[in-house]
Amino acid sequence: MASSASRFRPELRAPGTPSPRCPACGSSEAESEPSVEPGFALLRCRDCGLGRTWPPESPERVGAWYPERYYGKGNVRFNALFERLVRWFRRRRARVLHNRVPRGPVLDVGCGRGLLLCYLRALGYEPRGVELSETAARHARDVLGLPVAVEDFAASSGDAGLYHAVVFWHSLEHFPDPFAALSRAHEVLKAGGLLAVAVPNYDGWQARAFGRWWFHLDVPRHYFHFGMRSLEAVLTRHRFRVVRLDHFSLEQNPYGILQSLYNRLGFRFNLLYSLLKDRSARTETVRHYPFQTAAIALLLPFLAPLSLLLALMETALRSGGTIEVYALKE
Ligand SMILES: [Zn+2]
Repeated sequence: MASSASRFRPELRAPGTPSPRCPACGSSEAESEPSVEPGFALLRCRDCGLGRTWPPESPERVGAWYPERYYGKGNVRFNALFERLVRWFRRRRARVLHNRVPRGPVLDVGCGRGLLLCYLRALGYEPRGVELSETAARHARDVLGLPVAVEDFAASSGDAGLYHAVVFWHSLEHFPDPFAALSRAHEVLKAGGLLAVAVPNYDGWQARAFGRWWFHLDVPRHYFHFGMRSLEAVLTRHRFRVVRLDHFSLEQNPYGILQSLYNRLGFRFNLLYSLLKDRSARTETVRHYPFQTAAIALLLPFLAPLSLLLALMETALRSGGTIEVYALKE
């Protein structure tokens, strides 16, 4: 397996020692700020802007940050209306890939419930998924009947040159070593194959405006916080040619602003997100925080349109809250 130029190995540093070198550009100049999660800080490289959760959670312990409810009861994550929306978004994403990728084997790394692969199968592709835990893979495998390997994709082997497309949709930032994962993606793609990556944009307006209150930081589950600059630099170094970069995601960006506004206003962190989950999670949340729930509902008619407007503005400025990058294997 090809290895990247500078394999990053998470290690603990005592406070006050110099910042560890940036695995994307090699710089040791970084700004540090606390995160909302006690014990974890955010480091931002002064040169390329790559962010890191510091210290990185050990791969042995990170599983505890993905309780079963993270995936939702019966792997249904949200209430009925939002479930329909999520499915519509997945179908749309499958069609975007269909416009760029010939039929054949495609791999979704961090495939979650497998909805994207399910729609790709309906379009005539041979879908395969990878997930890190049996819990995460359950719905895709048992309900949708998709082939899902439970393994660390970065450490897997075989299948060189097999896939027409490899997808990392909000999964690359969850890897302790995303550089090894990209090397592996390069290896399993056919020549000219498509790499599709979506990540929160650490260079973007939302990230800057909300700082540690930003919904999409998701510390410590996100080990790395990519921005446009750092992601393009890393992809180029891994011999991918970026062919398209989108700054608008209706699914991710307005919601990122809305939830971050509530976080900034002092509501319980990510409370709205808990309210949008399936009924059992929602009932529990409402019972624990009745007044905050009512205040969130009262503010929603004002903050929701404001968030959509701000998301359109950040898109116009090419500074989206999340970015979607399409690149070809060179
Ligand atoms: Zn850097």
